[in-house]
Amino acid sequence: MDIVEITVVGAGPAGLLVSSRLSNAGYKVNIIEEHKNIGAPVSCSGLIGKDFFQNFKDFDFKNSVKNKIDGAKIFLGEDSFELERKGVSYVVDRCLFDQSISKNLNVSLNEKFVSFKRNNEKIIIKTDKRKFSTDLLIGADGPNSKIRSQGFKFYVKKYVGYQVRIKTNLDLDKFVEVHIEKPFFNWIIPEGEGIFRIGTVSDNPKETIEKFIRKNQIKGKQIDVQAGIIPIGRGEIYKDRVFLLGDAACQVKPLTGGGVYYGALASEFLTRSINTYDYASYSQMCDKIIGKEIRRGLLLRKIYENLNEKELKSIFTFIKSKKQELEEYGQFDEHSKTILSLIKDPKILSFTPILLKTYLRNL
Ligand SMILES: Cc1cc2nc3c(=O)[nH]c(=O)nc-3n(C[C@H](O)[C@H](O)[C@H](O)COP(=O)(O)OP(=O)(O)OC[C@H]3O[C@@H](n4cnc5c(N)ncnc54)[C@H](O)[C@@H]3O)c2cc1C
Repeated sequence: MDIVEITVVGAGPAGLLVSSRLSNAGYKVNIIEEHKNIGAPVSCSGLIGKDFFQNFKDFDFKNSVKNKIDGAKIFLGEDSFELERKGVSYVVDRCLFDQSISKNLNVSLNEKFVSFKRNNEKIIIKTDKRKFSTDLLIGADGPNSKIRSQGFKFYVKKYVGYQVRIKTNLDLDKFVEVHIEKPFFNWIIPEGEGIFRIGTVSDNPKETIEKFIRKNQIKGKQIDVQAGIIPIGRGEIYKDRVFLLGDAACQVKPLTGGGVYYGALASEFLTRSINTYDYASYSQMCDKIIGKEIRRGLLLRKIYENLNEKELKSIFTFIKSKKQELEEYGQFDEHSKTILSLIKDPKILSFTPILLKTYLRNL
């Protein structure tokens, strides 16, 4: 069968990247986006690892890059250590970033996807404006994916991420600050020109961030508030001519909630599977590369969320003692490689009881 039409729901980075690749390969691609503008509203801290930019050199992101990051200061209460890695990541303006990918693409803005139905020949799409048919459907419709909710088997836990942009005076130019606080951490990211992105993931994010700002005596003018859902989980990502991609597919790092890079990698796998008419290979390729990281990340998240203060402190002290290895082998996007670099130390065995206990606590 010759595929002529592909419909992509969602003009976030994942939907735009796959649309760009498929359009270049000669497919007719319809992109539907419920918002009036691409990239807005922003619900992202815009910290993206250097691997993304190395892998997607054919897009011009110059306009969107605001700062280059050389490492992180990690805090647990008053205790802290620094990890230096030159150019490890970039801070982007997510609105301009998404717009850079959308160049040359025709997006139907202000149109909301409502539902789909399959028949033998086609997939019938209903939006708030029209009904039409398509050959393949890609659900890149973000963390609350409507397409995922139509018959995909999925385990997903949703966390709320929240950040404020503040114009202030902090002694932090090229390093991000990570303040460990369950279920994730609080962050300070220098955007440049005296603007800082200060955020958290929490059940009461507004309160948590206000408390954090007070405690750290950060004074300044609040420019913006950005919030959104971080979906953590895994499940079915392909079913009978319908694919899930990006946050809709929970292609998100379970430990940090970063999703741009995994969604981008998955968009390459999806393009390959469509080009070869081997649709099931999409799940297989994702599982091999991203799925493995997500499975390990989910296990580590379970353990992390169940650690008590004393256990967290002893693991933090161990990690702090491995600063050199982390600087050498740590990976921004592949957390399991980072963990493996620590596992070589026989001292890790002393944590076996803690790890087992915390895992069992969760069963
Ligand atoms: C506070 C916060 C901070 C974050 N920080 C980072 C970070 O620093 N680095 C990082 O890599 N990731 C970060 N993330 C995650 C990152 O934002 C997402 O992983 C990424 O945006 C996912 O891209 P996507 O294209 O899959 O989905 P999205 O960017 O969510 O795009 C989905 C699109 O689908 C559209 N849509 C949804 N439903 C419909 C519908 N029914 N009809 C039509 N259109 C629809 C939406 O309007 C949206 O434009 C953060 C998330 C949050 C909440």
